[in-house]
Amino acid sequence: MLEQIRGLHHVTSLARDASENNEFFTRKLGLRRVKKTVNFDAPDVYHLYYADKVGTPGTVMTYFPFPHAARGKPGTGEVGVTAFSVPQGTLKYWEQRLVENGVTGLRPEERFGEKRLAFDGPDGDGFVLVETADDNRAPWTNGGVGNDEAIRGFHSVAMRLQDGDATAELLRFMNYEEIDREGSIRRYAVKGEGNGANFIDIETLPLINHARQGAGSVHHVAFAVENREKQLEVRRALMDTGYQVTPVIDRDYFWAIYFRTPGGVLFEVATNEPGFDRDEDTAHLGEALKLPRQHEHLRSFLESHLEPIRD
Ligand code: ZN
Repeated sequence: MLEQIRGLHHVTSLARDASENNEFFTRKLGLRRVKKTVNFDAPDVYHLYYADKVGTPGTVMTYFPFPHAARGKPGTGEVGVTAFSVPQGTLKYWEQRLVENGVTGLRPEERFGEKRLAFDGPDGDGFVLVETADDNRAPWTNGGVGNDEAIRGFHSVAMRLQDGDATAELLRFMNYEEIDREGSIRRYAVKGEGNGANFIDIETLPLINHARQGAGSVHHVAFAVENREKQLEVRRALMDTGYQVTPVIDRDYFWAIYFRTPGGVLFEVATNEPGFDRDEDTAHLGEALKLPRQHEHLRSFLESHLEPIRD
């Protein structure tokens, strides 16, 4: 049993247009872009990070915008919905704000006793805002949304799976416990003290085909551990249980390991250290194009080939 995991760290998705993506998260949702870098494995593609003021784990939504990507086809074997936490009584504000900003797919919902507002991301991405009591995380408030309404970070992700049982067993191994059930959806919460992004929903849909990944799809979901030592403990335990886990990879702002889960979703375990301010002042996070050491020699090529992002 793993006791090192403290909730979600980040969610990484695919997009088509970098400027549209940037506008959606910074201007419409009011998050802060805390890093503008490139996909370390494909450096001719941006990697954009949106979060709170400093990129606190549990608040970090990241994107790979591939300019010519086809839209994904939703289905099973993926994270279908990414949920952000907002204060109680703010969904009216958000509904009006999203309508005024041309956001589509708005649907008020209720699940597990929580009021939610579903909406579509720029490429049809599945999002919801969930009214959450007692979420004490400090929001970013320089993005046009005030302290009383601003997004606090992630609430949860919801996976759609043909067979949820093996993934549920994995979540229990990762120190999550089932706390509720509604129809075909089971809710899991991290045991002990989480970072606020504490929930995972599993929706079991045996008759729905597998998703085809593309723009608007979640690429992977990352879980938070405090440091590299705890990450190595998690890696060892997962491998002892039979999972194929990658070696530890340096992502400059955190250390990462990845493994494929039984339901098809790619999981990552990422460290809280060193964080997004390791190469930029907090006051200027996300402004300059940051490249990892191994791609610094490509800077002039990348600066002339990456489409500039309209801020
Ligand atoms: Zn990641």
